[in-house]
Amino acid sequence: MPVLVMKFGGTSVANLDRIRRVAKRVGVEVAKGYDVIVIVSAMSGKTNELVGWVNETSPLYDAREYDAVVSSGENVTAGLMALTLQEMDIPARSWQGWQVPVMTTAAHSQARIEDIPPANIMAKFGEGMRVAVVAGFQGVSPEGRITTLGRGGSDTTAVAFAAAFGAERCDIYTDVDGVYTTDPRICEKARKLDRIAFEEMLELASLGAKVLQTRSVELAMRFKVKLRVLSSFEEQSDEAGTLVCDEEEIMESNVVSGVAYSRDEAKMTLLSVADRPGIATVIFGALSDAGVNVDMIVQNISDEGRTDMTFSLPTDQVARAEKAMTEIRGKEINFAELVADEDVCKVSVVGIGMRSQSGVAAKMFKVLSDEGINIKVITTSEIKISVLIDRKYMELAVQALHDAFELEKAA
Ligand code: ADP
Ligand code: ASP
Ligand code: MG
Repeated sequence: MPVLVMKFGGTSVANLDRIRRVAKRVGVEVAKGYDVIVIVSAMSGKTNELVGWVNETSPLYDAREYDAVVSSGENVTAGLMALTLQEMDIPARSWQGWQVPVMTTAAHSQARIEDIPPANIMAKFGEGMRVAVVAGFQGVSPEGRITTLGRGGSDTTAVAFAAAFGAERCDIYTDVDGVYTTDPRICEKARKLDRIAFEEMLELASLGAKVLQTRSVELAMRFKVKLRVLSSFEEQSDEAGTLVCDEEEIMESNVVSGVAYSRDEAKMTLLSVADRPGIATVIFGALSDAGVNVDMIVQNISDEGRTDMTFSLPTDQVARAEKAMTEIRGKEINFAELVADEDVCKVSVVGIGMRSQSGVAAKMFKVLSDEGINIKVITTSEIKISVLIDRKYMELAVQALHDAFELEKAA
């Protein structure tokens, strides 16, 4: 029988009523003749609570124990979903990541899926089971320890299962009815896209649009998974939501197709570092060893052989970064001061059309300057421009850019 993957995010399984509601949706696909793999997230708010408990217990926690704790929310929803389906007379069984097994790297808290042998679940489908409910976000390391795939990782679980089982489609059910030109929660003019190209979705996701985890888009692109985002709160047709697809499958698109933001950014500056060969490798080597994900980097013009080095990083990694810099200070490098600014955010415009059209950066900077917003750091790639600005201007910047690039209008 053809296989379908259906993923339900936290708000879609937030309580027993909602679980019943989405189980009915699963029942509709089972009735059509699909064997269904359901991937569930933890109930909304649960993972944040678990992360909070870990941080309170141990600020510079051992990531193996972090994973042991934060993966647990999905165990509850997987079991409840299987029970709900059974109550509806649909043969269903739940699996935790290690039981499948979802084999991952040992990079705890941000592990990557390496393999999902389909044999166990296929055998159960062969015996008449119709729905396999799998706890998203979790896996097992080569050492046999529980891993997690990074925040939002259930999306990646879903796409990886779709690839491993050759599913006809991977439907990501969430609390919005598709991918929008920007987050509809902060810009009321945001427009739902019927289709979006993999490359654009990849950029939007990596720049903060959390509707899909970045890695899930990468996998869908690589394994040609038919990926759709749709609402679990509305009745759905087969054409509903947003299809993430190849660029060639989209007829018209705007130069800029979306605006993304990331709230959880921080900026750190090492003041007065000796400007000599090898300095960047010492600083960024130490940060990388400490598990800090550096994003943007700027080095000032040097003055009398000394320079300032600024970089951005996720807010929750500031403590790790400070520790790493303190450890190398006075040994491998010297600097006058380490300044952290946790009140920043990143706003980005994305569009494949930028490859062939100039002037997007100039327009973006003009829009921000007209609003009196100071830009702290800039980075660009072929299809995106990102700026770091004060967090208090985040909504304003997103709305002003959405207006200026006329994203409410279709191409
Ligand atoms: P789930 O719990 O279902 O995984 P998430 O909260 O992870 O849901 O992702 C859905 C949220 O992503 C939406 O509620 C919305 O606020 C946010 N979002 C950010 N950017 C976009 C965008 N461009 N289009 C749609 N939603 C977006
Ligand atoms: N529950 C996890 C999180 O909140 C994974 C997910 O929902 O995708 O990050
Ligand atoms: Mg999510």
